[in-house]
Amino acid sequence: MTVTTTGVLPDEVYDVVVVGAGVVGAAITRELTRYDLRIAFMDAADDVGDGTSKANTAILHTGFDAVPGSLESRLVREGQRRLAAYAEESGIPVEPVGALLVAWDDEQLAALPRLMEKAERNHCHDTRVIGPEEVYRREPALGPGALGALTVPGESVICPWTTTLAYATQAVRGGADLHLNCRVERVSSGSPHELTTVRGRLRTHVLINAAGLYADDLDRQLGHTDFTVTPRRGQLMVFDTFARDLVRHILLPVPTALGKGVLVAPTVYGNVLLGPTAEDLTDRTATHSSAEGLAFLRAKGRRIVPALLDEEVTAVYAGLRAATEEDDYRIRCHPGQRYVTVGGIRSTGLTASMAIAAHVVELLTEAGEELGEPRTLDPVTMPYLGRTSPRPYERPELIAADPEYGRLVCHCERVSRGEIRDALTATVPARSLEGLRRRTRARAGRCQGFHCGAAVLALLSTDSPVTPSPVTPSPDTTGAPVRSDGGAPPLRPEAGS
Ligand SMILES: Cc1cc2nc3c(=O)[nH]c(=O)nc-3n(C[C@H](O)[C@H](O)[C@H](O)COP(=O)(O)OP(=O)(O)OC[C@H]3O[C@@H](n4cnc5c(N)ncnc54)[C@H](O)[C@@H]3O)c2cc1C
Repeated sequence: MTVTTTGVLPDEVYDVVVVGAGVVGAAITRELTRYDLRIAFMDAADDVGDGTSKANTAILHTGFDAVPGSLESRLVREGQRRLAAYAEESGIPVEPVGALLVAWDDEQLAALPRLMEKAERNHCHDTRVIGPEEVYRREPALGPGALGALTVPGESVICPWTTTLAYATQAVRGGADLHLNCRVERVSSGSPHELTTVRGRLRTHVLINAAGLYADDLDRQLGHTDFTVTPRRGQLMVFDTFARDLVRHILLPVPTALGKGVLVAPTVYGNVLLGPTAEDLTDRTATHSSAEGLAFLRAKGRRIVPALLDEEVTAVYAGLRAATEEDDYRIRCHPGQRYVTVGGIRSTGLTASMAIAAHVVELLTEAGEELGEPRTLDPVTMPYLGRTSPRPYERPELIAADPEYGRLVCHCERVSRGEIRDALTATVPARSLEGLRRRTRARAGRCQGFHCGAAVLALLSTDSPVTPSPVTPSPDTTGAPVRSDGGAPPLRPEAGS
């Protein structure tokens, strides 16, 4: 049970190494800690969940619109069930708000029964088509012209950051080593595999590639050319909590062949999201927003909930989906090589993460890996960031026991010194302002750190038992400055989540 960010790596050979500590890599590592194995997971970043996993639309999908019979359909369905139960057990905020898939013209209206039938084939049996009166009764702030909707009651919103952190925390407490700031530069396949990282050599008998946008690079180094990742950017806008009463459900458009489209959705923190775009790029680091993308979202949003556009935008951000040539996940076990690729986890990986992890363990077992008997993991309880249960500042008994929970640092999000202290000393501690924001919401509110930024930075510098990462402006998370993107490709007419 070690988390390292600097220094040389252990010389012993691991049984299993997972490259990538996003939501998928962390879920796989957590699942593997059930077995008596020497395991590590590693990431190029200084934190877990710092890639695509930190920048999505945070929907716990039912998989009603997946390709029936695909691996993704099965794993999203199973993953939703597993993650909903896990969230309840470990304090991950989830709000079961349900979704309305709104038809705005006759063609879209005609598509609703087909989508309902597709939902049935995806084992989602509780959808139904409703008329315009019921649509407006359910969503009074919806723009004019809605002709009907498909209701998908099982869709929820979830906290994506706490999810990855919960998996990583349980994995580390379960005995896995976590090596951060540890980019893998070269892999040579063998027995054991040898990984050349920026922090030296690491050896492992079994290798799992959960490297997200770079999974194809790693795959090629191991002799496989099954797929190529095309980063598909999704830009989003975050509206202030004052906008929350405008939206009751996740408002989805009718999907087209080009994607799932732009949605409006509440978040578990009380904000409202508008997005995402869907732009196929070549640059795997292009996580900035563009003026064109934001204008596109504004136009779409004005149609869906016009009053939303009069509300304050507190942040914009963008994430990159690891799209490939195929409309399905690219999860392959190469038994002879003792290697598993977990690639192409595009738009549903948060939801499917626990089922992907279980699937990887099954593949390893089928490949003849002797994992032994699984054990039950000790449960974790994560700090609560949602708005439907009391936060620490609202709990007098907690403040009486520890007054630090009553001393607010971030007033917009009501984050106390006690929560910041806990995040800096957690099993997987925050090492940066961004890490603190994801663990506590400090600086994530309407002032975006204008008032509390200096105080939070001071706590990071003085109260952190680990060396904080150098403070650099974040180009890719909520709160990033809006900047024009001159060389961006044209936006698709329909975007997708
Ligand atoms: C705009 C958008 C909206 C989305 N909405 C939803 C949604 O509502 N619901 C849902 O379920 N899913 C959603 N998704 C999808 C979901 O976010 C992803 O499927 C998921 O985060 C993928 O997780 P991952 O762990 O595979 O990838 P990542 O989070 O990218 O993790 C991969 C990690 O590997 C590391 N890495 C890469 N190369 C190396 C290397 N050489 N050495 C060491 N480390 C390396 C990276 O640093 C990274 O941290 C959305 C995605 C986007 C972009």
